[in-house]
Amino acid sequence: MRFGVAGAGFSGAVIARELADAGHEVTVLESRDHVAGNCHTERDPQTQVLLHRYGPHIFHTGNERVWSYINRFGVLVPYYHRVRTTVGGRVYLLPVNLLTINQLFQTALNPDQARAFIAEQADSSIEVPRNFEEQALKLMGRRLYEAFFLGYTRKQWGLEPTEIPASVLRRLPLRFTYEDSYFSHPHQGMPRDGYTAIVSAILDHPLIEVRLSTPYAAADRDAFDHSIWTGPLDDWFEHRYGRLGYRTLDFEEIRATGDFLGCAVMNYGDLDVPYTRITEHKYLAPWEEHTDTVCIRETSRLAGEGDIPYYPIRLAADQRTLRRYLDAARSASGVTFAGRLGTYRYLDMDVTIAEALATADRILAGIDSGGRIPSLCVDVDGA
Ligand code: UDP
Repeated sequence: MRFGVAGAGFSGAVIARELADAGHEVTVLESRDHVAGNCHTERDPQTQVLLHRYGPHIFHTGNERVWSYINRFGVLVPYYHRVRTTVGGRVYLLPVNLLTINQLFQTALNPDQARAFIAEQADSSIEVPRNFEEQALKLMGRRLYEAFFLGYTRKQWGLEPTEIPASVLRRLPLRFTYEDSYFSHPHQGMPRDGYTAIVSAILDHPLIEVRLSTPYAAADRDAFDHSIWTGPLDDWFEHRYGRLGYRTLDFEEIRATGDFLGCAVMNYGDLDVPYTRITEHKYLAPWEEHTDTVCIRETSRLAGEGDIPYYPIRLAADQRTLRRYLDAARSASGVTFAGRLGTYRYLDMDVTIAEALATADRILAGIDSGGRIPSLCVDVDGA
């Protein structure tokens, strides 16, 4: 069969590769001038620092199939991500761990004491948290929540935490040890040559043609036997039910000699600091040596038309609109929707790859059985 894939991020690339490995011809149409979507990395010409152009991406997974898959296409150097946060003129460690607790409360509690202490602070009257704020109050109590989450979350999402799903906070652990690795997965690493090299290697196949700077046009729908759409779900339907909400990011570059932060990521939790975080990119590849430094400061705002969509907002209004789009997607033919934008969910890279592999399996099974190729292949109600 002849497949058209719209988008050369992880979703599009992995699906394209699996289809090509099964003997199908695949054309990948990518509107940007590079592959790898928002994971795109490139060397800064001035300093040679590897920049994560659309914000820091750290690979971590507990999925063995995904870990061996990504290792087929590049070298991953062990990397444990550590994040600091500045609030009220002081620096603390994230995710909230025993040192963060002892620093904030000026105590010297051991793990059991800290667990009991936080249990006293936590709001036990909340049984099933209905939103981000309730989740935080139930888990850690008001003081920790107000110090580290309230301001940052308002800036990041432009909303009150009571309007944000509880699942957003569940991304982060609360630890009663001094372990400060941001993620807990058994496999954590950073591609030695960047994500763009990995995605290029995935796409490097005689049956795959990649066309950069080429948006997928309406006419392309008839040019292929079947299309895979990894762009925004509402774009495919020309916004017929209205626009789904996304946050976008503005990036501002900072150059300095030597070090600027002295760590990979510093968050800024105070509301009167307009930006959310600064990334010092050379610390995302700590095995490299650079005398000069490049940092990128991120400010979040509502995405307008023409802005790059980063985070799906998934508010109640978005959920209603989303349901209409998902119903339309389920009954669409000639197309399969995949990925963060294609299914409007907040997905980590490993989940994106796992879903792309599962989607390709379902497409190939549909072809083998002579049946219909499903238009949605994953559980879109999660994440
Ligand atoms: N968050 C926060 N303070 C922080 C870091 C995170 O309040 O210092 C909240 C915020 O709402 C954010 C969510 O936790 O959207 C998930 O954080 P994560 O680090 O996973 O965000 P990402 O790196 O995906 O932007």
